[in-house]
Amino acid sequence: MAKISWASYPLKPAFSLPLVYRPCKITEVKVVYHPLYASEYPTAFVECPERVEVIRKELEGLYPFVEPSTAREEDVLLVHSQGLLEEVRAVAPLYPIAMLAVGGAIEAARIALGGEPAFALIRPPGHHASPDHYWGFCFFNNMAIAVERLIRDGEVNRVLILDIDLHYGDGTANFFSGRQDVTVVNIQEEDRERFIRRVFEALEDEAPYDMVAVSAGFDRYRLDWGGTLEGEDFWTIGRAIRQKADEVCSGRCFAVLEGGYYLPHLGRNVRLFLEGLAGGRNG
Ligand SMILES: [Zn+2]
Repeated sequence: MAKISWASYPLKPAFSLPLVYRPCKITEVKVVYHPLYASEYPTAFVECPERVEVIRKELEGLYPFVEPSTAREEDVLLVHSQGLLEEVRAVAPLYPIAMLAVGGAIEAARIALGGEPAFALIRPPGHHASPDHYWGFCFFNNMAIAVERLIRDGEVNRVLILDIDLHYGDGTANFFSGRQDVTVVNIQEEDRERFIRRVFEALEDEAPYDMVAVSAGFDRYRLDWGGTLEGEDFWTIGRAIRQKADEVCSGRCFAVLEGGYYLPHLGRNVRLFLEGLAGGRNG
């Protein structure tokens, strides 16, 4: 288990960025996971069970794991049409896992309410799922449903969703389009330094957020499809998100897994991101 302590580390950002790392309470990050996420279901070959397996192996023993319960239909219907729900339900091996992925995102969001960061280690991913349309290995929009659930339950009023996946999270952006209470920022930069600068700029937004939510894709990695970020950059991003959450919303932040396909380094990159999110040192 990660050790909880108060500490200040002489942290260095990846570049000479105007970010001052202030001392931060080191906490655990709860990892929301269910063995069913490592199941086979009809999808693209690259979106394979090994994705969550390599991450689970890397994180086990470092952070506490929490098993989620499955989502309810009414949760899915907060974001999606009945027609889309029925389409996914018709794919027998997929449906229970997709519902459990939504449940995992909701569980992570609920843990974050208590001021403890959480990471939903789930598949299938969700940010390409719009209210009535899905594509890109996504079926239900895990992130949008989790955030909308908390808003409808009166738990949060204003949420920042940061999407760091290589691909534009069209589903999430479509659902929250025109909303004043949810800001969705997709970081779409192909240059490493510009990418991180954009993340920091997004976090400088002074709106009174009471939750920071991250669609955490790892396909921007140098050896993945995006070819943009180094592994240590995921630490930098995680740490900046945690600092923002500490400053504006009592540390309330959570992330859900979206993309990430370079299996040899995927686990390590997620671990670096979580070390940042935990407020810890660059490891
Ligand atoms: Zn992606």
